[in-house]
Amino acid sequence: MCQSARCPNIYDCFSKKKCTFLILGNYCTRSCGFCAIETKSELLLPDKKEPFNIKEAVERLGVRSIVITSVTRDDLDDGGAGHFADCIAILRDIREDLKIEVLVPDFLGKSDAVERVVRAGPDVFSHNIETVPRLYKRVRPEADYKRSLDVIRYAKELGGPDFITKSGLMAGLGEAQDEIYKTMQDLKGAGCDIVTIGQYLRPDSECLEVEEFLAPEKFIRFSKWAEDLGFKRFSCSPFTRSSYLE
Ligand code: SF4
Repeated sequence: MCQSARCPNIYDCFSKKKCTFLILGNYCTRSCGFCAIETKSELLLPDKKEPFNIKEAVERLGVRSIVITSVTRDDLDDGGAGHFADCIAILRDIREDLKIEVLVPDFLGKSDAVERVVRAGPDVFSHNIETVPRLYKRVRPEADYKRSLDVIRYAKELGGPDFITKSGLMAGLGEAQDEIYKTMQDLKGAGCDIVTIGQYLRPDSECLEVEEFLAPEKFIRFSKWAEDLGFKRFSCSPFTRSSYLE
């Protein structure tokens, strides 16, 4: 995923033996305006060999920290939660100290799906809020701001105070500074421990235009806000990507 997404942090992460894997196929059931992944309604069932393939890659590459992310599979009853749990379980067999972060879709807010993933025991449970509520229609038309907050909130409730939750958003899609601040407050209120904020970059001409290239000072201000709001960890910079910080 790091290579196909042309992530600017690839050398830093690879030097730390960290990488991200995309599961559940290369097509998504949704059509977010900032994403270059193709949308399809009829999709193949999850590949049962995938958890084993990831295990093999992790062992071969000597990965120490992994992020498992996926497209959104609204076509599956559990939204792919069972497949996430299978991946976590098989990776736990490799090494106890392997750091496992899951960056999950909203599972249409299905609490049993969220529970399935939390119970599998990832080190970090991440779900991106992506943008501010006013822009959802344009940026994440099939998603729901409150539902995404509820996914983070429920994961925290299930996992307990030491269970790490995380969320990320992009800046530069037309949001106002105070909207970013309000979204950070909402995330903190939902029990989110880690927040990342990065500059939105247009992946291809089909995707939304960049409304603003934020000055570095604005990201410094976001970091100050994250500190003042009491987030355990945060990364706010033009090149920050949601799977970057652990
Ligand atoms: S849900 Fe995720 S993979 Fe699907 S279009 Fe949106 S950002 Fe892309």
